[in-house]
Amino acid sequence: MESLRNVYGEIAWSRRPWPQVQVRPGADELSCGLSKEDRLIVWTQYAPSDWPHPDKLDVEGLRFYERVVGLQSAFCEENWEEVADFYGTYGPLGDPAVLKQKPLGERVGWCRQALAWFASLVRLVGLLQTEDDAGLWLWFESCLSRSPGGSVLLDLVRDGVPRGALLDQTRMRIELVPQAGRTWPGARERQRLYDLIWDAVIDAVQGRLADTHLEPFRRVLSRPSRPVVQWGFAAGGALDAAFLQWFFEIFAPFQRPTCERPGCDRPLPVGRRKYCCPQCANAHRKQRQRERERVR
Ligand SMILES: [Zn+2]
Repeated sequence: MESLRNVYGEIAWSRRPWPQVQVRPGADELSCGLSKEDRLIVWTQYAPSDWPHPDKLDVEGLRFYERVVGLQSAFCEENWEEVADFYGTYGPLGDPAVLKQKPLGERVGWCRQALAWFASLVRLVGLLQTEDDAGLWLWFESCLSRSPGGSVLLDLVRDGVPRGALLDQTRMRIELVPQAGRTWPGARERQRLYDLIWDAVIDAVQGRLADTHLEPFRRVLSRPSRPVVQWGFAAGGALDAAFLQWFFEIFAPFQRPTCERPGCDRPLPVGRRKYCCPQCANAHRKQRQRERERVR
């Protein structure tokens, strides 16, 4: 399949810092369903907004998306000072229900779940891309151990709100689905584990992208003959901006290495370093041997 054009990651994010935020108990109908989560992050004033590309917010080797992943622990530890610091610089994470809240604010429960989802996604993909078998098994088993017995789906999101209701059903899970009628992979089924988890993260990413729209975010129409319209993938808040940065730079460009025998190009099965199979390794070795003999 050939693409018509390379899409580079223009991200349309209207960053609007909330310089003074407070974490308050909120008794509104949207957040009170969650025990211990019935709190809101409210703000008293806006700072001026801008349209930064997330890359411009990388600081000293720390990527912006990593900063957002790190915010998860601030929420877990209830370190509101750090949370306020984040909001003061980057603005809201992007709770879709902001405008329905009274007072206006983001639900702490939503932020916790959304960050758990994103942090899980980023870390899982890191394990997959580096083929960290031990880390992957540990992750899988810890999710298995806390899932109710006999369930067909396994949610790979960790450090979320284990018993709370999901505040954003479609975008808060990374679901592992076993092939029809099959059990979960056992200790010696490495390839099956990788296949299942890759499928799960790809589906989760696809779900998020389904809500991402391409929009005109900058228009300069002062010269009628040369209108300038800049298009970007719309980020509803700091979390979407981080997700899109990670998607364009880490997730989408990743290629599984392919077989080194010229003309083969099959992706390398997990665990093989150069060739897809012993036949290709052999064939390439003989081919190189023949070439050397011809030179002599
Ligand atoms: Zn091959």
